[in-house]
Amino acid sequence: MYGANLRFPKEELNLEPRPDWWMVRPEEIIATCQSTKRGQANVIAQTPGGFPIYAVFYGDFSEPAPQSNWSAGSSSNTYKSYFQREGQKQTILFMAGIHGAEAESVCAATNLIQLLETGKDFRGKTNNELTSLIDQYRFIIIPCANMDGRAVSPDHLRHATFEDFRAVSQGCWKSDGSLIGWRGSKEWFPLPLDKVKNPGGYPNADGFNIMHDACPGHIRTAEAKGILRLCERWCVDAVLNAHSCEGQPHFIAPTLLAYPAHQRRGAAWATTANDLMFKAGLRKEALREPMKARGATFNLNTMMMYASGALAVTLECSTCSLENNYTFDQLIEPNYIALKVIMEDGLTAPIADRSTLFQG
Ligand SMILES: [Zn+2]
Repeated sequence: MYGANLRFPKEELNLEPRPDWWMVRPEEIIATCQSTKRGQANVIAQTPGGFPIYAVFYGDFSEPAPQSNWSAGSSSNTYKSYFQREGQKQTILFMAGIHGAEAESVCAATNLIQLLETGKDFRGKTNNELTSLIDQYRFIIIPCANMDGRAVSPDHLRHATFEDFRAVSQGCWKSDGSLIGWRGSKEWFPLPLDKVKNPGGYPNADGFNIMHDACPGHIRTAEAKGILRLCERWCVDAVLNAHSCEGQPHFIAPTLLAYPAHQRRGAAWATTANDLMFKAGLRKEALREPMKARGATFNLNTMMMYASGALAVTLECSTCSLENNYTFDQLIEPNYIALKVIMEDGLTAPIADRSTLFQG
């Protein structure tokens, strides 16, 4: 039985019912993946809570495994000892729901799978611009990288209070019921589950925040291992790692620990995507200046870069807290805007140009 090892019940908030196309429950994610015919759905990990993590592959994934890894290959006489796909379709990974409470990208992903399979998403909408772009790439969708967290999270958080958003995202302590908090949750790895009233949908069922499962030689979760192996095996070029926050949607520039070429490219994507979101009425203010790589924190995005040379970037959708008033359709739209920005730009020049990337 799926989810047999979950230790906490699903959180329920007294919010409006979701629309019928808002497919984000674990059984709906699994059914969507299992229904694919055009795409190939593979299980890349089993969660500690008892769920499969699916990846759905669109395009030709028939090449043999690289003879080297990216670290060795990029330090050898030729990067082609790892990367032999020069001039072939680039490989893009759209990964949603690594923080299970953040349902918007998961909903965008299940709808995108349905769109690619049938020509219409669960809303009955077509999106020819997006599907024609996807056809020019190899495309992988991980619709929910944290099924355990998703299983204990509400279907959506539209118009939830900030306290409720935090309580179901990062959880509450058992001792006094106080919020663990966004940054507070990161003081633990894993979260001590015996001390929490509820863990929230941020971590998996063992309390690990998969986004920070990034210690070389000590990767704790099957989810992170599966994601990193997928990136390495298929020489992934770009990753859109999609999240949600309580504020406005925003596309985040890479940190200073990304390759210099990735810093520039990712920052340009962030500038374009944030501008498009403003023009689409999804952000209140226009950017005052172009985005730049900043900070030097690292996480699973950095590890994915090490695994394959990929440019991995984070998108924050909005969960639509009380002060915002996005429709359900608007809540998932940033995902499609971000994918279009990445894929349109990728057609102008290789996203991860392995011939120069390692030269700094
Ligand atoms: Zn997140």
